[in-house]
Amino acid sequence: MSIKNITVIGSGTMGNGIAHVCAQFGYQVSLVDIAQTALDKAIVTITKNLDRQVQKGAITEEVKQQTLKNIQTFTSVKDCAGSSDLVIEAASENAVIKEKIFRELDEICAPHCILASNTSSISITKIGACTKRPDKVIGMHFMNPVPVMKLVEVIRGYATSNETNNLVFEVSKALQKIPVEVNDYPGFVANRILMPMINEAIYSLYEGVAGVYEIDTVMKLGMAHPMGPLQLADFIGLDVCLAILRVLHEGFGNPKYAPCPLLVNMVTAGYLGAKSGEGFYKYEAGSKELVVSGMFLK
Ligand code: NAD
Repeated sequence: MSIKNITVIGSGTMGNGIAHVCAQFGYQVSLVDIAQTALDKAIVTITKNLDRQVQKGAITEEVKQQTLKNIQTFTSVKDCAGSSDLVIEAASENAVIKEKIFRELDEICAPHCILASNTSSISITKIGACTKRPDKVIGMHFMNPVPVMKLVEVIRGYATSNETNNLVFEVSKALQKIPVEVNDYPGFVANRILMPMINEAIYSLYEGVAGVYEIDTVMKLGMAHPMGPLQLADFIGLDVCLAILRVLHEGFGNPKYAPCPLLVNMVTAGYLGAKSGEGFYKYEAGSKELVVSGMFLK
């Protein structure tokens, strides 16, 4: 089977990047979000990121124009998913939302269509069990920012077939990514290792061991990380980090994964990091300067 049409569901931080790379490498992309504002913002972001690629000489102006032509936007999956060969779901990290989307996709999509989720932590086996095609359900976990990061963590659910796995490997390679196969356990590999580190950094701040700047500087200069864990948490989205930690905590039943109360408070108050304008740092429009949030200044 060859994949031509891809539907991407959710046009937030990840969905716009996934749509961008799929369209850049020649797939016809239907980008779906329940919010028209999210779709409008996604097209602005994709255009800006393509402009940056043109300026760097990574792609030509023609490739940019063709990439934009390859993307159509929709506010309902019913209007596009029927003709898809592959759906990549990148809606909010919430099991109830994802299960509802997969039940609907199973009804709408052609029998050959593969249903992939970009989930950071939710069980692919559980999502697959909501459909009548669990052999065609798989995890396709891209990294942020998608146009830059090379990895796709490919997660095999309990019933995922070899054929589905092979096709997803082929598509990932066609997107010039490097796929890595992992099994379906909470957090998979990437977030099982990353989230406890981020949570520990937030605990260090919460317990007064050090400030935001100091924690991030120790990890950048001491461990050669390109960005500190608190900045990375802001970049991922604090709501996404909290949702992943809850999946790890519930999935393993181990208190070591309990989210730090400071993270819970920040998400409750709407401090979600870069996407809301403030988390551990403040994000002014058009500025790349990192300013520690006023809440954490001594
Ligand atoms: P986000 O909050 O930026 O975007 C989610 C989008 O989904 C929103 O625009 C929302 O309107 C839309 N949405 C919600 N319900 C929908 C529905 N029923 N149909 C269509 N659209 C719907 O979230 P994000 O950071 O892009 O995360 C998306 C997924 O990618 C999550 O599963 C997350 O765990 C995963 N992920 C995130 C990162 C990251 O760094 N943020 C990295 C890898 C994977």
